[in-house]
Amino acid sequence: MPIDATQAYDDQNIFAKILRDEIPAKRVYEDQWAIAFHDINPQAPTHILVIPRGPYVSWDDFSANASGETIAGFVRAVGTVARDMGLVAPGYRLLANTGGHGGQEVPHLHVHLFAGQPLGPMLA
Ligand code: 5GP
Repeated sequence: MPIDATQAYDDQNIFAKILRDEIPAKRVYEDQWAIAFHDINPQAPTHILVIPRGPYVSWDDFSANASGETIAGFVRAVGTVARDMGLVAPGYRLLANTGGHGGQEVPHLHVHLFAGQPLGPMLA
């Protein structure tokens, strides 16, 4: 079920549990702002999720309420993940589903990073 992007942060959501290491994930990157791990149900040969360490429900919550330093740290982390994985030359796609019409299922901001093949004009 897609979430309501205006809802309050729920610290029992699955990505909060991954952040706290209460459930496993295949991590590929972490720093003080973000962690990145493989999506459990990949939609491309490479499908990584990058999430901020802070308790932000959605892109809306993050862009409205996070400090400039936090936003900069997160954006840099997303770029670093792609660079470290050698994805800049072949190319990649970023996506942040937000709320119901965006199809967001997990109520902790996450940026999908897709790569590994030509992705076409849109990703369904
Ligand atoms: P959304 O639809 O919210 O933008 O995307 C949520 C993503 O989280 C989906 O691509 C889904 O496969 C992934 N996902 C859901 N539960 C888990 C989990 O427990 N572990 C990992 N690694 N990914 C998950």
